[in-house]
Amino acid sequence: MTQSQLGRHAVVIGAGIGGLSAACALADHFEQVSVLERDDLAPTAGPRAGTPQGRHVHALLAGGLQALRELFPGIEDDLRQAGAVPLRGALDVRVERPGFDPFPVRDLGVLTYSMSRPIIEFTLRQRVQRLPNVSLRPSCRVLDLVAGADGASVTGVRCEEGGAATRRLSADLVVDASGRGTPTLGWFEAMGRPAPPETHIGVDIGYASAVFEMPAGPDADWKGVMTFPKAPQSSRGALMLPLEGRCWMVSLGGRGGDKPPGDEAGFLEYARGLRTRTIHDAIDGARRVGDIARFAFPSSMRRHFEQLPALPRGLLPLGDVICRFNPVYGQGMSVAAQEGALLRRLLAEAVHAPDPLQRVGADFIEGVQALLETPWAMAAIPDFIFPETTGPRPPDLERNLRFGSALLHLAAKRPEVHKLMVEVQHLLKPRSVYRNPVLMARVMVEMAKL
Ligand SMILES: Cc1cc2nc3c(=O)[nH]c(=O)nc-3n(C[C@H](O)[C@H](O)[C@H](O)COP(=O)(O)OP(=O)(O)OC[C@H]3O[C@@H](n4cnc5c(N)ncnc54)[C@H](O)[C@@H]3O)c2cc1C
Repeated sequence: MTQSQLGRHAVVIGAGIGGLSAACALADHFEQVSVLERDDLAPTAGPRAGTPQGRHVHALLAGGLQALRELFPGIEDDLRQAGAVPLRGALDVRVERPGFDPFPVRDLGVLTYSMSRPIIEFTLRQRVQRLPNVSLRPSCRVLDLVAGADGASVTGVRCEEGGAATRRLSADLVVDASGRGTPTLGWFEAMGRPAPPETHIGVDIGYASAVFEMPAGPDADWKGVMTFPKAPQSSRGALMLPLEGRCWMVSLGGRGGDKPPGDEAGFLEYARGLRTRTIHDAIDGARRVGDIARFAFPSSMRRHFEQLPALPRGLLPLGDVICRFNPVYGQGMSVAAQEGALLRRLLAEAVHAPDPLQRVGADFIEGVQALLETPWAMAAIPDFIFPETTGPRPPDLERNLRFGSALLHLAAKRPEVHKLMVEVQHLLKPRSVYRNPVLMARVMVEMAKL
């Protein structure tokens, strides 16, 4: 092993956004990294069973792109070559909010790309496959984690590969990026230890999504549209973003009894019932490509690994295993990528620590709490506008909602506040920037007018 290496073998469970980001982070510090993915991975981009959410709009936030850039230098060129469409935040997407149809259109210098989720994943997969010490093993399902003799550690996984008999793979470190976290939860159960406590926020959201060819003719003055509902009277919203190959993907979403249907006429009718007609008028008459996909999302979920006395040595949860966000806010992939970038920095720092893996485990869980603070609050607070939302209500909810509303009004008037708000929404800056006293004073003035 070289000096920068922390072990011989690391295993990553899952080749989603989190797993691929983690594999890249681990490659510099382990002789061999194996990414085990239950799905058969086709040599082209396409939907697959293990990530059914991939058939719905997946916005990549600028903070997620920044993390991917850190992990995979030059990733923007790869995405562009794969057909991703550049999007300048607040300029290229028409944002329609009650009272602001549209919200002021400005170039705030925030750039990201729009493409299908399979294209993002395929592009990352190609980069990971080029790393000489990383092997991607499709059709390999992890059954469970192997516990160390001390009962406090993980020393590998048991898996089934390509229909062959079950086998064990030893590992110095296992990263569980399986989305649901079944292997990690199974370890706690098998060891008779309490699993990490969970917070659930019940949102009961339904999605329906379809892809449409962009009609020929002059382009609109926007590349995408985001239509917010007038909450809490209605929860019906939509996001339409451009994809590779001159297509739009439209995701319609609603809560409780107002979920979008999966038939063509119903889809269009639901779009017609949005607060504005922009998306309906864009897709009415446009050729649909493929089926309408539906998805039910009952609740956001956060697993509090930070509340455990210690993480099992040799195990790191990552991505949706730690926190599954309400998809309406488009944060999950970006946070998974940010966690991958955090892991990369921590592995480099731990090289000279007495017990590097123990240190990385503890520092990672602590660092993730800071990463989650902004996206979790940005989703959890507005979700509680709807009285049907279940779960622990954030303290000071009413004040927080009024603050958000006043900030929005101020952002509409002042480009520098708009920029700050978009940077926070894109996870480029933490929410704590709103505590700036000058900004607070201005927001208070707005609040008094509401
Ligand atoms: C409807 C919907 C829309 C969304 N929209 C957005 C959006 O606009 N922007 C955004 O950033 N995020 C969005 N998300 C969230 C995003 O999809 C996830 O947060 C993100 O994919 C998490 O990455 P992950 O790597 O943790 O998990 P995943 O990407 O789900 O990957 C998990 C992988 O593990 C594999 N796996 C599972 N179990 C095993 C096993 N036992 N053995 C081997 N492999 C296994 C799976 O096949 C899969 O490949 C959306 C989610 C939903 C549901």
